[in-house]
Amino acid sequence: MRIALLADVHANREALEACLEHARAECAERHVFLGDLVGYGADPEWVLETAMRLSAGGALAVLGNHDSGAAGKPDRAMHRDARLVVEWTRPRLSAPALDFLAGLPLMVEDGDRLYVHASARGPGRWDYVHDAEDAQLSLGAVRSRIVFCGHVHAPRLYCQAARCDVAVALPSGDDEIPLVHSRRWLAVLGAVGQPRDGNPDAAYAVFDTDQDTLVFYRVPYDVQEAARKIRAAGLPEWLGSRLAQGR
Ligand code: ZN
Repeated sequence: MRIALLADVHANREALEACLEHARAECAERHVFLGDLVGYGADPEWVLETAMRLSAGGALAVLGNHDSGAAGKPDRAMHRDARLVVEWTRPRLSAPALDFLAGLPLMVEDGDRLYVHASARGPGRWDYVHDAEDAQLSLGAVRSRIVFCGHVHAPRLYCQAARCDVAVALPSGDDEIPLVHSRRWLAVLGAVGQPRDGNPDAAYAVFDTDQDTLVFYRVPYDVQEAARKIRAAGLPEWLGSRLAQGR
């Protein structure tokens, strides 16, 4: 089965549409949302309707810190503008969308894979996986062979051979990476809706459970339109302009 892994959509309709279309062309049969469906962007209801429709057909989703805020549990560590958008988002969501967010689990286990938004070590603390040390802590907290997460907004792959420390492996464009069985893996998905690695294209990945291969993709989308909607909604200007910079 081919699984499309989508993290940090952040209410960016244009980016999600582009990734879903790309994933269709890549024959993805299932979708997994790795948290932060909302926050920062101007299309929270459309993104949630899409995630709810896909979930009704078997997609999986976990809770992100922005989702948790929009569902009524603010993350005190969030910066002022992020909190402001969460407060803007909440009254714009339908009752079913709020229920969907409130019902999202912090982690989901799926075969030898674990899906979680932040570090698997205390997932509700929203710790970032920034380096190999963080990746080791996250992998050390669970038994799953592969951990997929988001939260960082820049794609990164970590690998751990038996009795070895975790090492970093930078994913490069569109390569099929074999997640060999004798090792454990932690993949940080880049952000669909708000990349911060200097590349404005939407980031997502496809994992093939039969081949045990992972491919990180970058997908161009209508950045200007997503930024225009953020400005038109009266949200902080820089949240739109950063989309074009991928920062
Ligand atoms: Zn995020």
